[in-house]
Amino acid sequence: YLVATPIGAARDITLRALDVLNGADLLAAEDTRVLRHLMDIHGIPLRGRRILSYHDHNGDRARPALLAALAEGGSVAYCSDAGTPLVADPGYRLALDAAEAGARVHALPGPSAALAALSLSGLPSDRFLFLGFPPSTATARQTWLRKWLAVDSTLILFESPRRVNRTLADLCQIDPDRITVIARELTKKFEEVIRGTAAELAADPRIATLKGEVVIVLDRPSEVVVDD
Ligand code: SAM
Repeated sequence: YLVATPIGAARDITLRALDVLNGADLLAAEDTRVLRHLMDIHGIPLRGRRILSYHDHNGDRARPALLAALAEGGSVAYCSDAGTPLVADPGYRLALDAAEAGARVHALPGPSAALAALSLSGLPSDRFLFLGFPPSTATARQTWLRKWLAVDSTLILFESPRRVNRTLADLCQIDPDRITVIARELTKKFEEVIRGTAAELAADPRIATLKGEVVIVLDRPSEVVVDD
């Protein structure tokens, strides 16, 4: 079971996720303390079960134990730190290998920062492209932005609050009029949505001191009007 977990508000967990966390034979998590805490909040006992650690850096070593449990007919619940596993989070190889080994893989849908940001961005939601995090080096980021900004689709990016400025500056060089939405601290106390053109946001004092977790949503390119 790939179990989505809250991205802020603890009560955003689904009833089915609680059932699966309560009933799974084996629990695995990107950070075992985070899952432990979530289970504590919702009163789910471990009852002697272990939580195995499974993240990007130990996946190859940790996968065999999880696949062995599945092969023996056990059920395994996997959670990343927040939101939906596999979405800019670990779990892809685990889900693939489990499916290829013949196990039944179930996704338990729930919170995801990408979709929460899209739904409150006010930008077209009929077609969207999730891009994950932009590359961190300047040249790679500019090439990357130039490529994806040409796509005729709403774009969803994850970004660290420290780098939003820099990404907006790059965006301004390519398309300063692009409607841009910064969705911050979704489902949390300081949830905030800031909207404007890329150039307006780059000059907005709130962006300079941005804190917390951030999703950037970009409108599709405006129609190019060809003159004579
Ligand atoms: N798998 C997760 C999901 O489905 O939401 C995303 C994991 S990714 C490692 C973490 C990034 O998601 C953060 O850097 C931020 O861009 C975004 N994010 C997570 N929680 C958020 C929140 N409450 N508000 C805004 N962005 C959030």
